[in-house]
Amino acid sequence: MLNAVVKFVTKPLGFAQLRYASQGLPQLSSEKYNMSRKSFGSVESSDVNFFKSILGDDRVLTDEGDVQPYNVDWLQHCRGQSKVVLKPKTTQEVSKILSYCNQKKLAVCPQGGNTGLVGGSVPVFDEIVLHLGLMNKVLSLDEISGVLLCESGCILENLDSHAREHNFIMPLDLGAKGSCHIGGNVSTNAGGLRLLRYGNLHGSLLGIEAVKADGTIIDCLGTLKKDNTGYHLKHLFVGSEGTLGVVTKVAIHCPIMPKAVTLGYFGVESFENVLRLLKAAKLSLGEILSAFEMADFDAITTTTKNFKISNPISDYPFYVLIETHGSHEGHDSEKLNQFLEEQMASGLILDGTIASEPAKIQSIWGLRESIPSAGLRDGYVFKYDVSLPLQHFYRLVPQLRAKLGDRASVVYGYGHVGDGNIHINLTVPEYTKEIHSELEPYIFEEVSKLKGSISAEHGIGFSKRNYVQYSKDQSALHLMRELKQLMDPNGILNPYKVLPEVK
Ligand SMILES: Cc1cc2nc3c(=O)[nH]c(=O)nc-3n(C[C@H](O)[C@H](O)[C@H](O)COP(=O)(O)OP(=O)(O)OC[C@H]3O[C@@H](n4cnc5c(N)ncnc54)[C@H](O)[C@@H]3O)c2cc1C
Repeated sequence: MLNAVVKFVTKPLGFAQLRYASQGLPQLSSEKYNMSRKSFGSVESSDVNFFKSILGDDRVLTDEGDVQPYNVDWLQHCRGQSKVVLKPKTTQEVSKILSYCNQKKLAVCPQGGNTGLVGGSVPVFDEIVLHLGLMNKVLSLDEISGVLLCESGCILENLDSHAREHNFIMPLDLGAKGSCHIGGNVSTNAGGLRLLRYGNLHGSLLGIEAVKADGTIIDCLGTLKKDNTGYHLKHLFVGSEGTLGVVTKVAIHCPIMPKAVTLGYFGVESFENVLRLLKAAKLSLGEILSAFEMADFDAITTTTKNFKISNPISDYPFYVLIETHGSHEGHDSEKLNQFLEEQMASGLILDGTIASEPAKIQSIWGLRESIPSAGLRDGYVFKYDVSLPLQHFYRLVPQLRAKLGDRASVVYGYGHVGDGNIHINLTVPEYTKEIHSELEPYIFEEVSKLKGSISAEHGIGFSKRNYVQYSKDQSALHLMRELKQLMDPNGILNPYKVLPEVK
């Protein structure tokens, strides 16, 4: 067991903040969505003094310029009005802060890397931002079991690098890995690029430490793979988006680092053929298949155009990215090459390239991982992240193109087809309420009719809170409200998020 505490250097500004610094301020969320502030307390100078007595002057931000980046989300769709950012370094500090805020009825917005795409990580009004970025220590990594114990503010990419030094990898990977925190990943139940192979966080999260709204520290930081003793409380925090507690530490099971990684990138004629290829890949690559991603022509073209990067193959209506994680490079690349030959002969693959050199693999993944931010250069992007039964997976994209016509600059679909999760991006020159109300609830109604989920992996946050009923029955919503009442009776933790507004 490695017990040395590894502390990562926190990046002073996440890429969200860098983007924000170079662009104008988005409209205040409270105005954009015509919201009323709930009757929480307002932060006064005596409160600031109390926070300084716990954290010291330098970990309590109150200057407008210092606080502003924490008020704006990555997409620049939401802007809050917080006046205070607190940066705890220990669980005890989080506990003292929450206990105080609960007594004073001061609302709090927990924030990790601020890469969330549903407005959950930024305040709506003047909630205090509780930024977890300084809780960034790895506490241990068990060399045999692969159990990693760390604080919640560790950046995912740093954890992955640390795990790789010991022949493990993190069980999840996403485009925002350079900024998102493991605590944010757990709190959103992030999925990502390799869920197909390594499963979701409900499976790999072994233990959790969290602080309730009243400051009580809940220690469920077990490291066992099997533990059926009572209610599985850790799962309450997975995907609760900062509304039930603040995650302070996690224990995660890390898979062994694959000895061989091979990546194929293929051009495909139709979406029907993408699905046929998925089935063929499962049959032929079975135990080594680690990712199966798709992107349509417009997704790739927008990305290559806006980031001036090249597409390694010519133009096709659809692209598929297939990755394998295995233990024998010769065996795996032979398997993938044979797959390519067979599927070119069958006509499912029109053209393709296969890579096993790290630089080429990285550049193809780089193209895929740049898709989420590509559209932001062209205007305002409406983003939807839905799960759909595979036969309906791509259906909404042409439907939305027809609905918006030339009012949209571009509409495209991409995502984790292996998990039934499509991301649909619609870029318009600028935000208008008219287009917004044409898209919502229309998209959620369509998803619900097709028996899909209105949020596959990004969560509900602020943007989708009034649409949860399209994916959750009234009985489930009622239980969610009861849990919120039990865990946070004053409602101070991330108000205006996840649960629908009570009219
Ligand atoms: C380019 C890009 C690619 C992305 N790709 C994917 C993807 O493939 N799969 C995917 O699932 N998501 C993806 N996302 C969305 C986002 O990165 C994830 O939701 C991520 O898990 C958020 O982590 P974060 O640390 O940035 O959390 P934040 O954005 O800071 O917060 C997200 C939510 O979690 C809460 N929270 C954060 N930390 C804590 C904590 N310690 N305790 C309690 N609550 C907390 C916040 O209050 C908020 O409600 C992507 C985002 C971007 C920008």
